[in-house]
Amino acid sequence: MTHLADMAWPEASDRAASGDVLVIPLGATEQHGLHLPLTTDTEIAEAVVVRAALLEPRIVVAPAVPYGSSGEHQDFPGTLSIGQEATELLLVEICRSATIAFSHVVLACTHGGNAGPLGRALGRLTAEGRSVRGWWPRWGGDLHAGATETSLLLALDPARVALDKAVPGDLRTGAELLPELTEHGVRAISASGVLGDPTGASAESGMALLDEAAADLASTVATLSRADEDVRPSGPGPSSAPASFSSSSHTGGGR
Ligand SMILES: [Zn+2]
Repeated sequence: MTHLADMAWPEASDRAASGDVLVIPLGATEQHGLHLPLTTDTEIAEAVVVRAALLEPRIVVAPAVPYGSSGEHQDFPGTLSIGQEATELLLVEICRSATIAFSHVVLACTHGGNAGPLGRALGRLTAEGRSVRGWWPRWGGDLHAGATETSLLLALDPARVALDKAVPGDLRTGAELLPELTEHGVRAISASGVLGDPTGASAESGMALLDEAAADLASTVATLSRADEDVRPSGPGPSSAPASFSSSSHTGGGR
């Protein structure tokens, strides 16, 4: 079994005791243009983790976190943001709980808006001696609901993509857009909500991106040590042993 959702606690106990790794997909519920569903980020995060688990049997797939920090998309109806503070606390508490049993936890994040809270949560958890790391796909490409995410959804479930409604949005880079985005939100910049150009998207390139990300996540998990070779928190206080921690090497843009 791969999914926590399919296990009773004794199996979770066995998997944790044998040094298997809990991977939690982190998504969001936010607008993704006129052509993609609001749950796009969550679906993509889950799909990558499930695919990685096919490559790396030590992965235990946790239920996805479907909400995150999406304030920049708040002017679009259907966006459900819990904000930065709640996202940080949610991640801290889930990982405190998860690391009671699991030696290692990986937070697999496909939503750029979670970068700040995730980084702060990782800092706190690492200071507590817990082995929790963040993982981001290295997709690059356009920022939000453009060719990258549209290709990914086309690969996962083309029936969920309204390609006839896909329109190009603002094509500036994240660095160029950030000041305006932070101050005014996405809607002031892009009427459709798209930041990028979805019109060149294809299922084929989406599948290649999924495969590449799954392989990268699987190899990240494979580097984590087995149980008892590594630190585990033994109580509520911080551990003095070193924890393995890797900060994000890629912020994932504005996804
Ligand atoms: Zn997204």
